[in-house]
Amino acid sequence: MNPEQVLGEENPFEAMHARFDLAAQKLGLDPGLYRVLRTPDREMTVAVPVLRDDGSVEVYTGYRVQHSTARGPAKGGVRYAPNVNLDEVRALAAWMTWKCAVVNVPFGGGKGGVVCDPTKLSVSEMERVTRRYIAAIMDILGPDRDVPAPDMGTDGQVMAWIADTYSMHVRSWQPAITTGKPIELGGSAGRVEATGRGVMLSTREALKVLGIQPNGVTAAVQGYGNVGQVSAMMLDRLGMKVVAVSDIRGGVHNARGLDLKALKSHFQKTRTVEGFPGGEPVSNAQLLELGVDVLVPAATENVITSKNAANIKARVIVEGANGPVTARADKILDEKGIYVIPDILANAGGVTVSYFEWVQDRMGMFWTEDEVNTRLEHIMVNSFRDVTDMAKRFEVSNRLAAYMLAVDRVGKVTKMRGLYA
Ligand code: GLU
Repeated sequence: MNPEQVLGEENPFEAMHARFDLAAQKLGLDPGLYRVLRTPDREMTVAVPVLRDDGSVEVYTGYRVQHSTARGPAKGGVRYAPNVNLDEVRALAAWMTWKCAVVNVPFGGGKGGVVCDPTKLSVSEMERVTRRYIAAIMDILGPDRDVPAPDMGTDGQVMAWIADTYSMHVRSWQPAITTGKPIELGGSAGRVEATGRGVMLSTREALKVLGIQPNGVTAAVQGYGNVGQVSAMMLDRLGMKVVAVSDIRGGVHNARGLDLKALKSHFQKTRTVEGFPGGEPVSNAQLLELGVDVLVPAATENVITSKNAANIKARVIVEGANGPVTARADKILDEKGIYVIPDILANAGGVTVSYFEWVQDRMGMFWTEDEVNTRLEHIMVNSFRDVTDMAKRFEVSNRLAAYMLAVDRVGKVTKMRGLYA
C-alpha cells in the first residue's frame, strides 16, 4: 500500500472535521452544539489476545468509537485491516452519524476496528479474534445501544460470530445485535448488494440531473471488494460500460468495456482482478485519471488528493468508499466542475438495508428481496433529492449540502434531547 494511503495528506478525522466545520459555519450552528457534535460520545480501546494456530499468542488492538447516539443506537461497521488507527475509526464513526442522518434512518454513528491483517489469519484465528474483540467491547454493544456491521476485512461469517458471541453472553438469541448477517441467521434479503445498488441508484439520479442517458456511459471502478464488485455489475446492468476495475494489487482496462462475468470468475480463481486477460493492465493511480464519464472510488480513504485531483477527467464521481477524496481535493474538483456524489449519500444503501435488517429482526418477520429493493430505492431517491435541493438552495456543493442536511438533523435532535446535567 502506498504510504500516502496509510498516512494520508489529511488524517481522515481532520478531513471529516474540515467538512463538518464548513457545514456548521454555513448553518450558523450554535457554538455549544458545534462542540458537542465535533466530539465522539465514547471511545473504547481494548487488547485482543488471541491464540494463533501455531500455539503462539498475539495481542491485537481493537477499537469501537460511538460518535453520536442522539438519533438512535450507534450504527456502523467493523474493519479488520493492518493500518486501522483511532483517528480513522473516529472519522468513520462520525461519517456513519452523518450518513444515517442523510438517509434519515433512526441511528447514530459508530465504527470499530481491529489492527490485524485478515489475509494472514486462518478461519479459526478470525473467529477467535472476532469473539475476543466482541467480548471485550460488549458492555457498550446491544440492539438498542450499538449495532456493528461488515466493513473492510469482515463479512457475513464474522457477523454470525458476533451475533453468537453476544447472544451466548446474554443467554438469548439476539439477531438485532448486528447486521449484514447470513440470511439463515436473520440477515436481510438484498443486504449484500445494498451498497452497490445504492451507488447505482445515485449514479442514475446524477445522470438524470445532468441530462445524460446511461446507455454507453463509461465508468471506472476502483476497488473490487463487496462495494466495487456489486457497483460494477449494477452500473453494467443500467446500460453503462464499465471499462476499468482494480483492486489492491492492480487493475485492468478495456476501452470496449469489460466482460464482468469473465472478470468475476478470474477473480474467484486468483483472488485478484490483476492479470485478467480481457483487457490491458492499469495501475490504481492510472485508473483514477482515465478519461471516463463516471469514476467510482470504492476502495479506501484518501485516494483523490491535492496531488492528483487536477488530473481527474471524469465528469461524475460517485464515492462508494468512505472518505476517498480529501478536503483539499474537494476544492480542486469543485473548480473543475466535477459532479461529486459524496460518500455519506452515495454509499448509504448499505446502512439503509442494515436498518431494514434490524427492523425485520426485531419484528421476527422478513421481507422479500423486491420489498427491500423497493424501499431502498425510495430512500435513496428521496435522499438524493434532499441533498441536491439543499445544494441548490444554499448554492453549495453536494458534499457540503449533505453535511449541512445531516448536521442540521443531528443538531436539532441533540438540542431537543438536551444536555443531561
Ligand atoms: N460499513 C458500512 C458503511 O460504512 C455499513 C455500515 C452498516 O451497515 O452499519 O456504511
